Amino acid sequence: MDVNESKKRRTMIAYILIGVVVLVLLNTLLAPQLGRSPITKVPYTQLLQMADANQVDQVEYNLSSGDITFTSKDEAGNTLYYSTTYWPDDTSLLPRLEACGATATTHIENTGMNTMLIYLLTFFLPILIFVWFGWRINKRLKKELGEDGPSMSFGGFGQGLGASGAKIVAQKETGVTFADVAGQDEAKEALTEIVDFLDKPERYEEIGAKLPRGALLVGPPGTGKTLLAKAVAGEAKVPFFSISGSEFVEMFVGRGAAKVRDLFKQAKDKAPCIVFIDEIDTIGKRRDTAGFTSNDEREQTLNQLLTEMDGFDNHKGIVVLGATNRPETLDPALLRPGRFDRRVHVELPDLAGRTAILKLHAKNVKFSGAVDFGSVARATSGASGADLANIVNEAALRAVRMGRKGVTEEDLHESVEVVIAGQQRKNAVLSDKEKKIVAYHEIGHALVAAKQSHSAPVTKITIVPRTSGALGYTMQVDEDEHFLTSEQEALEKLSTLCGGRAAEDLIFNSATTGAANDIEQATKLARNMITRFGMSKQFGMVALGTVNNPYLNSDTSLTCSEGTAQKVDEEVVKLVGEAYERASQILKENRFKLHELAGYLMRKESITGDEFMAMLNDTQQQGDVSQELSE
Ligand code: ADP
Ligand code: MG
Ligand code: ZN
Repeated sequence: MDVNESKKRRTMIAYILIGVVVLVLLNTLLAPQLGRSPITKVPYTQLLQMADANQVDQVEYNLSSGDITFTSKDEAGNTLYYSTTYWPDDTSLLPRLEACGATATTHIENTGMNTMLIYLLTFFLPILIFVWFGWRINKRLKKELGEDGPSMSFGGFGQGLGASGAKIVAQKETGVTFADVAGQDEAKEALTEIVDFLDKPERYEEIGAKLPRGALLVGPPGTGKTLLAKAVAGEAKVPFFSISGSEFVEMFVGRGAAKVRDLFKQAKDKAPCIVFIDEIDTIGKRRDTAGFTSNDEREQTLNQLLTEMDGFDNHKGIVVLGATNRPETLDPALLRPGRFDRRVHVELPDLAGRTAILKLHAKNVKFSGAVDFGSVARATSGASGADLANIVNEAALRAVRMGRKGVTEEDLHESVEVVIAGQQRKNAVLSDKEKKIVAYHEIGHALVAAKQSHSAPVTKITIVPRTSGALGYTMQVDEDEHFLTSEQEALEKLSTLCGGRAAEDLIFNSATTGAANDIEQATKLARNMITRFGMSKQFGMVALGTVNNPYLNSDTSLTCSEGTAQKVDEEVVKLVGEAYERASQILKENRFKLHELAGYLMRKESITGDEFMAMLNDTQQQGDVSQELSE
């Protein structure tokens, strides 16, 4: 492998260069320091005194400058160094020095430490350390690049580190089957072929069918992609190797590629098997062609993955499954035939799917009394499988907290709120004034919704603050699922969203920050109606935007000229403004009910849809409450 060879050589050359630089620095900076004892500057008279006291050992006299360096010995016999300046015309110095027996030299050797020792310290020792380090690094590189022959392979099953340090989870049997995955029937069907192939590869070979090498599980988080991959391995009764894409993201060029090699080496030993790469978008990102932003490490990892997928002997039966919620960012090379050429969509569960998932997770939980899972499922539109599993568990926890022996339907409904809206905030205390504003705001939403014919019925209104930051919310649940939204429904949804602020405005004649989320949603909806759904007269059936990522909050970006963009903005303002007017009108017509219901909500903090409808349809006690509550 000459890529590795040149990589190794480059690393070694860089290493040697660094070594030489460090060595030179050491020698120029450190050695002179070690090699010289300190020289004490003394007055001339001290030299004379020391000469008289017979303490001067050697003297070096510089004729031109008049500098004198001299040495003396302390009690322990160590040489001390001094320097001073000659007094011109002092003729007494020479005789005095002669009398004390000092020797005159032309150069005093100033050696602080043993020369040999200095040499060892500044030259040989660093070289030794460098060579040792170099040897270690070399050994490691070899191992990583897999040149050591069959190096430390991954022995037992379980979680552990491979030779490259990659966290590969290997399971002999996942113990998960398709029965553990509720709903997702289309995904399961698409995967049965892979199961069949892993189970009886000979049948495919006989006919000469090209065997699938990989499939990509695509869908939002928590929908059961990992679970499905495990189930495929479990159904086919083959080992399951899994690694997360983020494991491959490495600081050092070449390490990610080494991990890929490691993964496939292990897989080949245990084939037939499943290799599962979670979050494959982290390594499989589209390779950039724009010069500066290219990412050497990631590209190498991706290239290695492509090489491995092309390279393995398909008769052995290795199927690579990848999971991602950003399929649009993947490099096209990954999606070519023979690689991840199959796409399995794993979508958010529908009503039936949600019911099935709830029932599945409820199997391990004790219930007391009859539970209508359908009603819970109806209240959780948009929840993922993971959310639903969480809801069941929260319900069980709640039952334990309440000291009950079994979970009730109420526990489930309560935990829907916990999981979807965040835990109830225990210590958030709203002032009465704030509570009043929130109550009118929420009733505003509910009233506008109820007074329009196409809105989903209100099922719950609450002003109990949540940790998610919402001070209150109005829950609307459709009786049955629908996948199409008519223009009328969209317009009514817009009015409903405007209802909160319209009520605040009507009653308190001022605005608060509480409508921020409503405003965001309304704007998004209005913009989508114009740019994507063709629901404006001005533009008609023209797409003005594209969806960037259908799985992550479906952000759109405009694909029209600047002039059009401005018109779109104007149209959005108009659409939302009209919706606001409609909402205001409805609230004005039902002013008494608004007061009555808001007062009731303030007292109870949380009311059900049935209570709400009953009060709304009750034509009795009107008028008096408004006095009680008005400003
Ligand atoms: P993903 O990989 O798509 O993010 P996971 O497979 O990790 O989602 O799902 C997380 C958990 O959610 C699972 O362990 C399981 O408990 C639950 N779950 C998700 N989808 C389903 C489903 N269709 N049936 C049963 N349980 C599910
Ligand atoms: Mg997952
Ligand atoms: Zn609101």
